[in-house]
Amino acid sequence: MSNFLKFQINLETFIDDLNKRLNKNSEKLNELLEQKNKNYASFVKPMQMMDEELEQFFTPLSHLNSVNNTEQTQEVYAESLPIITEYSTKLSQNIDIYNAYKEIYTDEKETLNYEQNRVLELNILHFELSGAHLDEKTKKRLQEINIKKSELSNDFSQNLLNATNEYEYIIENKKDVEGLPKSDIETAKFKEDNGVIKYRFTLQMPSYIAYMTYGQNAEIRETLYKAYVTRSPQNAEIIDELLTLKNEMSRLLGFKSYTDYSLATKMAPSQESVLRFLEDLIKNSKAQAKKELQEVQKIATQPLKSSDTAFYSEILKKEKYDIDEEEYRPYFEQQSVVNGMFEFLNRLFGIRFEKQQEKLWDEKADSYDLYIDDKLTARLYTDLEARKGKRGGAWMHNWQAHCSNEKGEEQLASAFIVCNFPASTEINPSLLRHDDVVTLFHEMGHAIHHMLSSVNENEVSGVNGVEWDAVEFPSQFLENFAYEPKVLKLFAAHHKTGDIIPDDMIEKLVKSKNFLSASGMLRQLEFSIFDFTLHTKVYKGDEVQALLDSIREDTALIKTPSYNKFQNGFAHIFAGGYAAGYYSYKWAEVLSADAFFSVVDEGIFNSDTAKRYLDIILKGGGAKSMQELFKELQGREPNPSSLLRLNGIK
Ligand SMILES: [Zn+2]
Repeated sequence: MSNFLKFQINLETFIDDLNKRLNKNSEKLNELLEQKNKNYASFVKPMQMMDEELEQFFTPLSHLNSVNNTEQTQEVYAESLPIITEYSTKLSQNIDIYNAYKEIYTDEKETLNYEQNRVLELNILHFELSGAHLDEKTKKRLQEINIKKSELSNDFSQNLLNATNEYEYIIENKKDVEGLPKSDIETAKFKEDNGVIKYRFTLQMPSYIAYMTYGQNAEIRETLYKAYVTRSPQNAEIIDELLTLKNEMSRLLGFKSYTDYSLATKMAPSQESVLRFLEDLIKNSKAQAKKELQEVQKIATQPLKSSDTAFYSEILKKEKYDIDEEEYRPYFEQQSVVNGMFEFLNRLFGIRFEKQQEKLWDEKADSYDLYIDDKLTARLYTDLEARKGKRGGAWMHNWQAHCSNEKGEEQLASAFIVCNFPASTEINPSLLRHDDVVTLFHEMGHAIHHMLSSVNENEVSGVNGVEWDAVEFPSQFLENFAYEPKVLKLFAAHHKTGDIIPDDMIEKLVKSKNFLSASGMLRQLEFSIFDFTLHTKVYKGDEVQALLDSIREDTALIKTPSYNKFQNGFAHIFAGGYAAGYYSYKWAEVLSADAFFSVVDEGIFNSDTAKRYLDIILKGGGAKSMQELFKELQGREPNPSSLLRLNGIK
């Protein structure tokens, strides 16, 4: 068995070391390609291990650049990126590799195991989706399309950014900012030369949301709303161009539409299955969404408009469940939350974490060895507190993947969990918000998905090779438990008195999570269906708006003003990676809700489903489609009604 890597990195020599390594890889690649009778063991395995070792070498740099960012890490990181990109582009366009994979797949398909076949299938698919196997003329056109597409996406987000930055609304009457939180008023406040105090609101997120949620002047709300939903009208033309190009690209690659192209790398089997899934959810959420709206309407004096909903919803939320975060924090002391989560995972899956004494990149970082049935299985690194030089947010980053190397030796997996919780000092403990607890569970869900893999081929081991619309399944699955009384009571004890968190406080957390959940669901479904349908053929000009309008007939309970051009700001799909994939959020949520409730209904601890989840989903990694793994887990298709149950929709 090979040991865990030591976390060490020499920034002085990193670029030299990287170049040496890549040169060696290129030489090795030539040798591998020159072999006469290539087979899985003599070609695919060494190719995979070469990739794995490069990842292992590079990950400490990208990790360090995120958690201990300095001028030096930035410099080395920036210098290494083009080198790595050039190397991987060359590999992905090397048609000899593609041909070798295809030949080996044809020759050995019957004798290889499913993990090995999956490696070949995904590699071949990857080549074919980039068009590397097509004739020169087509390849050239694909390249042109790709360049044009990224220019257009960039213009789309730049236009949106400019429109957001250019706008401001000045409030002169102090009365109009009454009701806003003090901190928002302070941010908006400025003094003119003549000493008069005014308030500036913009379309940037904290500012816009603050006025829409708390601003009492309905006219100002509507003005801001209108400015927001009419941003960057010139993006309409970009949408037309993008849709045309994406369609052409998909056809050149052998797909009927961009939607089909997108589905090629996803778990969802067909267009019909996605649309049916989304439409069923609409049908089942609508009645409750109407009720929710009536409740909000009751508070308002006038018929509700789109620009009023956030404001009146906030009043209703305060009335019903006013959650004071400060009341919760003392129950969530960081170390006891971490230990409690380990305890929970031990009772759920029988896995055990043991803290290691190891010098890491920061004294607040920790490492743990993970055991299943007393067998050393993986290593986890945690770095949970905010500090200077650390990127914001929370994430899991995989380092080593479980596999068996060229010599047949087992390599164990490792992963990092990074969060930005309040820093602890010698006098003050780090007390978390409940949201932070949810975040920690979420990232841990990703981490155990990677670490508990028993797959022997690293390219489909752990989170590697998992479909895009299934990757969030294990993380969402685990985060759901952070609302369960049985789980919270394992560790949520007041850090001073030791009192366990009372039931009514837990109940309030769940209810406030589900506040207006059906309305929120409808909105997400509207975006999902719009995105998905829009990419099934070429929509042009007014057809885009007409499509959105026709979907809204089913999803929008308040009439959307005709000036609303939401699509011109839908950056997720026109400037991000979500085109024909926005449905993925809901898709993965169904898998997680379904598995979660099976475990809950079996009493959580000693649940058979949990044991199968460990054996099938977590150990299975990306070696089979999640569609298949899920069926093995539950013996049936995922049940969308569990998502409704999770959101408190009856
Ligand atoms: Zn996630």
